Amino acid sequence: MSKLVALNCGHGTTTNGVWDPGCTYKGKSEAALMLPITKAAVKYLRGSGVQVQTDAFSGNNRNMVSDVLLANRTGADIYVSVHCDYYPAPAGILPLYLSGSGKKMAKKMAKWVKKYTGCKSRGLAKRPDLYELKDSDGVACIFECGSIRADLKSFEKKADEYGRGIAHGICSYLGVKFTGKKK
Ligand SMILES: [Zn+2]
Repeated sequence: MSKLVALNCGHGTTTNGVWDPGCTYKGKSEAALMLPITKAAVKYLRGSGVQVQTDAFSGNNRNMVSDVLLANRTGADIYVSVHCDYYPAPAGILPLYLSGSGKKMAKKMAKWVKKYTGCKSRGLAKRPDLYELKDSDGVACIFECGSIRADLKSFEKKADEYGRGIAHGICSYLGVKFTGKKK
């Protein structure tokens, strides 16, 4: 049976309709910077035949609570949301996980994102306190792409590569051949 991946862009419109930009730096917002990365990841996953549910093509219009509830209702096997860290954070990816399976998947995503973007890595972090990790029924990871200050240029220039790495890592975790095609 084919697997369903819920892949969402962090922040965006909250339940009461207010825009949540996430962290910001020099007029740039986390929500806006992570959107092209999320879109690329979704396209690469679909290009490898993976079924994806996302808020990336509807204006990032679901907040994390609705994202998690939808993923659980539809029985998504995997839940990933794409974020970046605030400006004092050092450069480098830092995938967050809670479960053992989440850690396994996070490692694979980190490996491919590093390979495609040449970014730095801050390792992985286990976080028992985060809603998206605690409440998702599927294997979950919050993929922190790096620092909104230190990695800003990479986010802008290499959105496709970040997305490609995230998708390749998820495919590898699922045992699906990554085609490198976008759909
Ligand atoms: Zn965030």
